Amino acid sequence: MGDAATTWRRLGTGVRTTRVFVSTAEIEGPSTELTGQNFRHLARVLRVETGSAVLLLDNSGRARESVVTEVTSNAVVLQNNEFIELDTEPKVEVTILQAIGRGDRFDEVLQHCTEAGASRFIPVVSIRSMVEIPPDRIPDRLDRWRKIIRGAAEQSMRTRLPEITAPLPLHLALESEVRGPLLMLHTVGSRKAIADTDLTDATTVTVAVGPEGGWSGDEVELAIEAGATPVTLGPRVLRTETAALVAVTQLLFQLDRRR
Ligand code: SAH
Repeated sequence: MGDAATTWRRLGTGVRTTRVFVSTAEIEGPSTELTGQNFRHLARVLRVETGSAVLLLDNSGRARESVVTEVTSNAVVLQNNEFIELDTEPKVEVTILQAIGRGDRFDEVLQHCTEAGASRFIPVVSIRSMVEIPPDRIPDRLDRWRKIIRGAAEQSMRTRLPEITAPLPLHLALESEVRGPLLMLHTVGSRKAIADTDLTDATTVTVAVGPEGGWSGDEVELAIEAGATPVTLGPRVLRTETAALVAVTQLLFQLDRRR
């Protein structure tokens, strides 16, 4: 092997410490009183007690160690200690443009790709999505999606929450939300491997993942007109949620190894 060995810096905190995203005000003071959703999560679900260690994250890249000093009927009180450096964010921004379908596959995409290091999600309603989201349901759906992202980010010790856009038809997503080179995962026709695409100076990349039935020919053409390169993940056909995870992994392995 030799030349390209990657060593990850040891994380500054125990991997079993509870992680929680809080507001900037809550991370900054000498102590913090967490109420509402954070209270319920810490006190009722995780059952923290006086003395439990909690790592506070404020979605700005900062992390601060704290200790529970009191659990009341509606608040968890923390004493805030040292700010620590957590080197968990990838240096390269990967956006997943994901065709959503029925069921909870998109939830899995959000969860697993957040863990693997994706930075943005664009849910797309495609021709073969077999799903419609009525406009009045979009705020609820986004809330739920953001909760899944947040849980996965806490679990994987991310210090920034991946963003998610409202669901869009493919042509609008291509027009306004793509950042950097666009790779379209496709299972037919002539395609390159991700490793053979030229991403040398890319600091941001978007990868488009089709629904269970795949992208339609028209959608592939539309994406190619918008500058997409069709790519393959290899000879095996993966489920859409597996394809998204494998794509993030391949991209970050290729682009985020230099530390
Ligand atoms: N029914 C389709 C497969 C769809 S798989 C077929 O038989 O061709 C769902 C999506 O995952 C695809 O649209 C593609 O974006 C992605 N995908 C799955 N396996 C892939 C592979 N080996 N290479 C590239 N993309 C893949």
